[in-house]
Amino acid sequence: MTSNSAATAVRATVHGYPRQGPHRELKKAIEGYWKGRVGANALRRTAAELRRGNWQQLAAAGIDEVPTGDFSYYDHVLDTSVMVGAIPPRHRASVATDGLDGYFAMARGTQDVAPLEMTKWFDTNYHYLVPELGPDTVFAADSSKQVAELTEALELGLRARPVLVGPVTYLLLSKPAPGAAADFDPLTLLDRLLPVYAEVLADLRAAGAAWVQLDEPALVQDRSPAELNAAARAYRDLGTLTDRPKLLVASYFDRLGEALPVLAKAPVDGLALDFTGAAAANLGDLAAAGGLPGKRLVAGVVNGRNVWLNDLEKSLATLGTLLGLADHVDVASSCSLLHVPLDAAAERDLDPGIVRWLAFARQKTDEIVTLARGLSQGTAVIAGRLAANRADLASRSGSALTHDPAVRARAAAVTDADGRRAQPYAERAAAQRAHLGLPLLPTTTIGSFPQTAELRTARADLRAGRIGAAAYEERIAAEIREVLAFQEKAGIDVLVHGEPERNDMVQYFAERLTGYLATQHGWVQSYGTRYVRPPVLAGDISRPEPMTVRWTAYAQSLTDRPVKGMLTGPVTMLAWSFVRDDQPLAETARQVALALRDEVADLESAGTSVIQVDEPALRETLPLRADGHAAYLAWATEAFRLTTGGVRPDTQIHTHMCYAEFGDILQAIDDLDADVISLEAARSHMQVAGELATAGYPREVGPGVYDIHSPRVPSVDEATALLHKGLEAIPAERLWVNPDCGLKTRGWPEVRAALENLVAAARTARDGL
Ligand code: GLN
Ligand code: ZN
Repeated sequence: MTSNSAATAVRATVHGYPRQGPHRELKKAIEGYWKGRVGANALRRTAAELRRGNWQQLAAAGIDEVPTGDFSYYDHVLDTSVMVGAIPPRHRASVATDGLDGYFAMARGTQDVAPLEMTKWFDTNYHYLVPELGPDTVFAADSSKQVAELTEALELGLRARPVLVGPVTYLLLSKPAPGAAADFDPLTLLDRLLPVYAEVLADLRAAGAAWVQLDEPALVQDRSPAELNAAARAYRDLGTLTDRPKLLVASYFDRLGEALPVLAKAPVDGLALDFTGAAAANLGDLAAAGGLPGKRLVAGVVNGRNVWLNDLEKSLATLGTLLGLADHVDVASSCSLLHVPLDAAAERDLDPGIVRWLAFARQKTDEIVTLARGLSQGTAVIAGRLAANRADLASRSGSALTHDPAVRARAAAVTDADGRRAQPYAERAAAQRAHLGLPLLPTTTIGSFPQTAELRTARADLRAGRIGAAAYEERIAAEIREVLAFQEKAGIDVLVHGEPERNDMVQYFAERLTGYLATQHGWVQSYGTRYVRPPVLAGDISRPEPMTVRWTAYAQSLTDRPVKGMLTGPVTMLAWSFVRDDQPLAETARQVALALRDEVADLESAGTSVIQVDEPALRETLPLRADGHAAYLAWATEAFRLTTGGVRPDTQIHTHMCYAEFGDILQAIDDLDADVISLEAARSHMQVAGELATAGYPREVGPGVYDIHSPRVPSVDEATALLHKGLEAIPAERLWVNPDCGLKTRGWPEVRAALENLVAAARTARDGL
């Protein structure tokens, strides 16, 4: 291995680090502050200690340049809004009175003032607060947070690099402010925004920043020529400033594509590129573009969003190629380590033989440092690490967990026919009508009923050994009896058991499938102080025994009406887990689908005539670039059909999705070949019903008439009005009446009243037919 051509050594760095602290101290301090138990100064102290702890840990691990400013009390995009002065008018007074309280008011809302909207950060499970911009927006620089955090790191004697959301990405992630025209394009504000960034950059330089990183992940998405022009203009303007630190423009989550030459030509000092997963195409693109002569390249060769150990030799080979393409190459994670848990070594309950395959933030940091050493000093100095890495990789690929011959043989034998129902939809619909005998406009719910405090306590008691399995199960059975009794009394047509036994719609199944692992401390930030512990899909997937049949059959034994079986679909099982990186997602999805297919068959044999397979994640895992959509939708819909394709014609398959905007996957929804789909629709006044009708969707549809995201109980009139709206688009023979989504987050009083009103509305509408 050659050593780095430039005079300075290869540096090891990361774009950001988990914020929460080893014991989620930040979450506790912030929530304590909200409840009035922790004072503002105590909160600030905790935050400063956590930042210092992170930097010291990174430095001790051998990271040469630590990121600053990636810390956040809630969200880094909201921090950027504060930095550029884009405070929505409705929040200005409270921000002016108290910066911290005003900040949290923007994030969470108050009794009187709505928060900013929250949405997914690209295709991760992190959510950011959407900036609201309009023609009247006046930006003003506030670099205080960035300067303060840089100063903290510099005072520790560390080399530090502030990380900011770049101006183009900031604007592209924004939406028109409430008062602005719906087609207002925030990008038109670029010329107003750039001077603010210039001021922040000057302040950071004055505070001692040699380099500043500007994150532009929005440039890895399909971008119009106008948007690419805006990026070119932004970095020409910022690059030609005289009073500025060196600029590193970072992208991640996919390849830069057409944006690569734009940034490569810009007068900035370096680029940080992702070379993992779909973004590996950056390597060839960079060579084709003539490399980055005269620039620094920060090479993201350690995947910042999966939980798996790196193939160090493969990364060294990539880095070796990159050495010929840039003036100076540094080693980094592909993106901020915010998206992974902190430390795999904390997983004491996992088999050490499996822990060696895992790399969380600490382990990834160590991989980056090792690669940087190997790159600058030659591979001999890391020979021991390389040998250990080879052994870890071999242990993973040779393990019976990752390679179960029975699972593989079955997946390989799948044919098209397995994913095809025996009869076309129209014939099935007739058979189902005869078999189920439902009225027009049948009523149902999406699955879960309120997850009460008693249920959560019972689960915690079971875990802690305070109650035994029998007592816990009796608690669940009692809940099911109550849920069934209520639904019968309310007059609902297709009942559910209420999912009281499920802690979470993915975790419940992950705990019952071989090949999935649960972590003890694998928390990652979903939004604000909400952290989730996604299960780890580590191996080949099989189902040792039925997972849902018992409670579904129990519920069915209590009533003559059909009880709907409830499953989480294969795409959602993948989307809300950490998935394996050693085989294509399509392959993993197929294994999960086959396990679920057996569950579907067992439910059917147990007398379940209606089975719902939830796929709320179908649209959110759509690849960032359009050229990846077709292949994704092909395997995703195939996995759904494989799950459901084996049932009798008169067994009715439902699916459920939450979102309201799905124009780009209408065809895929039809390709699922489900008999009934329920969707969120109450807030958008049944807009989806119209869209489905326009697209010629031929099946049954249940657009939600009860917005379950709000404690409000819809009146009979309201629900009836929505139903009539639905009837304008979908004929009565194909329209269902149901809430937007599951009821688990709601309280019983609201749910009772709302469902009674929903049934009354269905009856009124039926009478009018
Ligand atoms: N069946 C699940 C429930 O009712 C569906 C949840 C979801 O769509 N996110 O809770
Ligand atoms: Zn839903």
